[in-house]
Amino acid sequence: MDCIFCAIINGDIPSKKVYEDESCYAFHDIAPQAPVHCVIVPKEHISSADAINSENAHYISAIFTAIPKIAADLGLTNGYRVITNIGEDGAQSVKHLHFHLLGGKKLSENIV
Ligand code: AMP
Repeated sequence: MDCIFCAIINGDIPSKKVYEDESCYAFHDIAPQAPVHCVIVPKEHISSADAINSENAHYISAIFTAIPKIAADLGLTNGYRVITNIGEDGAQSVKHLHFHLLGGKKLSENIV
């Protein structure tokens, strides 16, 4: 399978790691859209949030348990935003489930 985030998880493509555990991996986004912008991915290839089911939902628990730790490590003491894009209308460009963690400034009130 040709998946850039699987390649990052495997270390075949370099990334700036911010967090890792047995279930998930987080790294700085290559094209940040906020002063702090990292991406958190499950270590298993799941195409998007639309493919979450009872078999793989434990990754969501793991990711959302990691997010407050990552946010604290990155100094996001005044709040942040978590976004996942899904499919074409959701403007998902990488077809491996990921959550954007954005912060470091007051974010726009547009788009949620
Ligand atoms: P999305 O558009 O929601 O699928 O988000 C994909 C994100 O992955 C974008 O914000 C890209 O900037 C980011 N991205 C793509 N390739 C890399 C990479 N090699 N390292 C870090 N971030 C990447």
